[in-house]
Amino acid sequence: MLTPIAGSVWVRESEFLQSNTTIVRGPRGLLLIDPGITETELAALAEELRELGPVVAAFSTHPDWDHALWHPALGDAPRFATAAGARVLGDFLALPDWREVIVDFLPPEHLDEIPLETLAGLAALPEGATSLPWDGPALRLIEHCGHAEGHAAVLIEHAGVLVAGDMLSDTLIPFLDGGAADPVGDYLEGLRRIEEVADAVRTVIPGHGSVGTDVRARIALDRAYLEALRDGRDPADDPRLAPSAPHADWLPDVHAAQLGNLRG
Ligand SMILES: [Zn+2]
Repeated sequence: MLTPIAGSVWVRESEFLQSNTTIVRGPRGLLLIDPGITETELAALAEELRELGPVVAAFSTHPDWDHALWHPALGDAPRFATAAGARVLGDFLALPDWREVIVDFLPPEHLDEIPLETLAGLAALPEGATSLPWDGPALRLIEHCGHAEGHAAVLIEHAGVLVAGDMLSDTLIPFLDGGAADPVGDYLEGLRRIEEVADAVRTVIPGHGSVGTDVRARIALDRAYLEALRDGRDPADDPRLAPSAPHADWLPDVHAAQLGNLRG
């Protein structure tokens, strides 16, 4: 189901981890950001988009599997990613055993429904690109590390909508890039860059979680979590880690692992 968010912007939520797909309409068609997860959902999305127009471009906010899938029914529009994002995913897919490696990260309940073969085919934007090349509303890219190399949030300027990628979630704590030298520092820098445009943001769409109007509160919550992690403290009052939170059965384990990794 498509939910209208603002002028020419819609969102569609996947069953897996409340993943959000964003749709932006331009004069000649649609741009999709992080298309979705399962084969069935992606086909349903293609069907629902028929009345809005053809898909003319797409963007993956970062090179994780759940943000770079596709379906033939969506057509063959260029699927952009940052230069680093396209390189990281391309390098991964060049591993002879990538399918075995990725299985550990996939939700078992959707295992047979994830069209992994569609991960290939991202088109790299020029290094340091700050906008998306299409003829629709201006889309500003805010690229930064922290969650993943080549991660970029997208500011849909005319609508005051920020598509945050895997940051600013109301249900997930920041997930750090375990391979980076200073993932907490990178993540804090990413939040700082997002904060620079916060005055222009009325609506925030996280990669996973609820759409909100509280961008500054979400920045503060992510920052408080990271500062606690950096200082080796438990972020005691983070609502995402509360016993009643939606992912209380596994998210505290992710937090404990991140704390352990940083303590080395
Ligand atoms: Zn994700």
